[in-house]
Amino acid sequence: MRYFDPRIEEMPPEDIRKLQYRLLKTLVYRLYSFSPFYHDRMRETGVHPDDIQSLEDIRKLPYMYKSDLRDNYPDKIFVATQDDLVRYHVSSGTTGKPTVVGYTRNDLENWTVSLARGLVSCGIGRGDVLQVSYGYGLFTGGLGLHYGAERVGATVLPTSVGNTERQIELMQDLHTTAIACTPSYLLHMGEVAEKMGVSIRDDTDLRTGILGAEPWSDAMKARMEEWLGIRAYDIYGTSELSGPMFCECTAQNGFHVWGDLAYIEIQDPKTGDPLGAGEKGEMVVTMLQKEALPMIRFRIGDISSVDDTVCSCGRTHPRVMRISGRVDDMLIIRGINVFPCQTEYPLNTIPEVGQHFMIEVDRKGALDDMLVKVEVTKEAFSDRITDLMAIRKKVEHRLRNALNVAVDVELVEPGSLPRFEGKAKRVIDRRKL
Ligand SMILES: [Zn+2]
Repeated sequence: MRYFDPRIEEMPPEDIRKLQYRLLKTLVYRLYSFSPFYHDRMRETGVHPDDIQSLEDIRKLPYMYKSDLRDNYPDKIFVATQDDLVRYHVSSGTTGKPTVVGYTRNDLENWTVSLARGLVSCGIGRGDVLQVSYGYGLFTGGLGLHYGAERVGATVLPTSVGNTERQIELMQDLHTTAIACTPSYLLHMGEVAEKMGVSIRDDTDLRTGILGAEPWSDAMKARMEEWLGIRAYDIYGTSELSGPMFCECTAQNGFHVWGDLAYIEIQDPKTGDPLGAGEKGEMVVTMLQKEALPMIRFRIGDISSVDDTVCSCGRTHPRVMRISGRVDDMLIIRGINVFPCQTEYPLNTIPEVGQHFMIEVDRKGALDDMLVKVEVTKEAFSDRITDLMAIRKKVEHRLRNALNVAVDVELVEPGSLPRFEGKAKRVIDRRKL
C-alpha cells in the first residue's frame, strides 16, 4: 500500500488551503457559539467569526496556552457533553495540575486516521508486526499507535514499556518488524539485548523504528540506524493534539502534518511576526477538526521550521522539520534568537570535539558575550598548542555560521564539563536583564 488515503494525501496544495479555510471558518463559528472560553477570548481580542475572511486571518484569533488548560482543570474548556465523550487521557504536567484531554468518537477516529496515514508513509502495513513499547494507559503513546497500526492491517504486539528481556524474546519469537517507543528506550533495549547475547541487527527481523515523545538528535538517529540495522522515523504529537499524530515518511525529511487536521504557523517567539518557509521559529498549532478539546493557535512551545513544497514521496502536505528546541530555552544574543540546541549539529560535524558543551552568556558594557566551552576528544587533546588553536578557530567558524552570531570558544579537557541525568542544563546566563 503506497497511501492510506490518496484522495487526501495527494490533494493539490491549493485545495488543501481551501479546505483548511472552510474548516477554520466552521470551527470558529462553532466555538464562538458554543464555547464560553473561546467566546470570551474572541470578545476580549475584539475579533468576530465574520472577520475571518482568509486562511491568513487566523492571525487575528487569540492564542491558547498550556496555562489555559491548567486554569480550566479538569474539563471546563471541553466543548462536548459527558454523553459525547468516549475516552480520557491524562498527561502529568511538570508543574502543577495534570492536563486532561477528552475525546469524542470523531476525535479518536481522526487520531487513528492521522497515524494510519503516517504509518503507511513510512512503509508499515499488512504483514508487519508492530511492537508497541510506548506506555499504555493514561499516556497517549500506547493506545494511539495501537489503533493506528491495526487500522493499516499490521499485527500489533502491545508490550507497553518495561520488562525488557521479555520484550526482546517476544521480538525474536513473533518476528517483530517494527517498533514504536521512545528513542532512549530503544537504545536501552539494544544494550539489554547485547547483554543477552542478542544482536538486534543480526538476530531479529526489526527494520523500522517509530520513535518520539522526547527530543533526540540527528546524531543519535544515525547511531541507532547503524547499530540496530533499522530505519528510524520521527513521530510528533502531544496529548493536547490528541497524542502522537504526525510521522516522518520514507523520505525522512520532516513529518507530514495533514492539512485537513491541523494548520501550523511558524512565528517569531518574541514578536509573534509570521516567519516564512524554512525559517526556524515557534510552532503555533490549530487543530481543525478536534471536537471535545478544541485547539486554536495553541502555543505548544516547540521550535521548528516548515517545508511546504511537495515531498519526494508524493504527499502534498507540509512537512515540519525535527523539533530543534523549546521556546523556553531561547536566548537573545545581541538581538539574535539563539537556541542552545543549534550548537549540537555543528559540533557533531567536527571529529576533534566531543558532544558535551556549555554556554556562558555575560554582558560586558552594552554587548552580550557568548562563550561556548567545548570538550575536545582524548585523541585530539594534545600539548601542541597550534593544533588546539586550529580546532578552536574551526569550532568558532562553524558556530558563527550556524547561529548567525559571533561566539568565543574555549576548548576544555575531555570529561571536565558537568554530566546530566535527565534534562541537561547547558546554559549559564549571567546577564542582569
Ligand atoms: Zn513525504
